[in-house]
Amino acid sequence: MKIDAFIIPEDLHEARAALKKLGAKGFAMAGGTSLHFLEFTGKTAVDITRLGLSGIKKSGATFKIGATTTLDELMSYRGEGWVLDQVAVNTCTQQIRNISTLSGNIVRIFPWNDFPVALLALNATLHIQSKDEDEYEAEEFFKGQPLRLFKPGDLLTRVDVPAIKKGQGFGYHKEARVHAGFSMMTVAAFAEVKNGKLKKIRVAIGAGIGLPSRATALEELLEDQAVDTLDLTELVAKGTAKLPWKGKEGMSNEYAGHLGRVIVVDVLTAALRQAKGE
Ligand SMILES: Cc1cc2nc3c(=O)[nH]c(=O)nc-3n(C[C@H](O)[C@H](O)[C@H](O)COP(=O)(O)OP(=O)(O)OC[C@H]3O[C@@H](n4cnc5c(N)ncnc54)[C@H](O)[C@@H]3O)c2cc1C
Repeated sequence: MKIDAFIIPEDLHEARAALKKLGAKGFAMAGGTSLHFLEFTGKTAVDITRLGLSGIKKSGATFKIGATTTLDELMSYRGEGWVLDQVAVNTCTQQIRNISTLSGNIVRIFPWNDFPVALLALNATLHIQSKDEDEYEAEEFFKGQPLRLFKPGDLLTRVDVPAIKKGQGFGYHKEARVHAGFSMMTVAAFAEVKNGKLKKIRVAIGAGIGLPSRATALEELLEDQAVDTLDLTELVAKGTAKLPWKGKEGMSNEYAGHLGRVIVVDVLTAALRQAKGE
């Protein structure tokens, strides 16, 4: 990877104009940590970290997160119903968390990226500044490589994440060989319990199935079930039977499938416990 030149714009308008003009010869640079994994030469980097797109604000029951908020900020922030610290603390090393941003983690996804999995489970809303401001629900945004949605000059500006409320729960687990290692399996779940029944459920899986996605067949099996009589092991086996499990770091695909099922059961158990107020 070789960068030919840097542009350091002072506001969103200037950054978008520079990126539009550069077209394929330019790219938005947030933390810049992914350049390590990409092959290209002769491009101009447009720094997007000074455009006022950082910070976390709670508005009602929603956390509004600026796109270039760093993983360190996500890890250190505290607020009622905030759960992304659980994701950030298990992502990379502190040096990388200090410079790597939320938008860099979710606009161009590598299979090991952790935040798309959590944002799918939390049903986040993503804001892209294009000609207008376009809004995407996480499921649509992550249906393929999100970069497909961006034209030259378009920038992700904000991510809205609902706070976890009473009667709701969030579970998260990332399996890696060592703490700062790449994920072999990442699972996140959101559950809402009402009158003893599972009213809303979202389960997302990453790393062990390629690009992250929702386990919708499993969600359908779980929806409306009475939480106290759930046989999670059986339902998870049935609901994930058709997922394309992919082994990493020496694991066979079969081993990955078994690991995935065990983690999904654990993560769902954690989400349900929180939703039940245990
Ligand atoms: C050794 C190492 C290990 C890692 N391990 C993990 C891991 O286990 N789990 C994990 O989740 N991550 C991990 N990461 C981080 C991950 O791989 C990416 O490097 C990181 O998420 C990129 O964030 P960034 O802010 O540096 O983005 P950049 O590298 O600056 O940008 C990434 C891409 O997103 C685009 N982009 C960024 N922001 C915007 C925006 N606002 N609008 C439009 N486009 C934008 C850029 O143009 C670029 O294409 C690791 C990184 C390293 C170096």
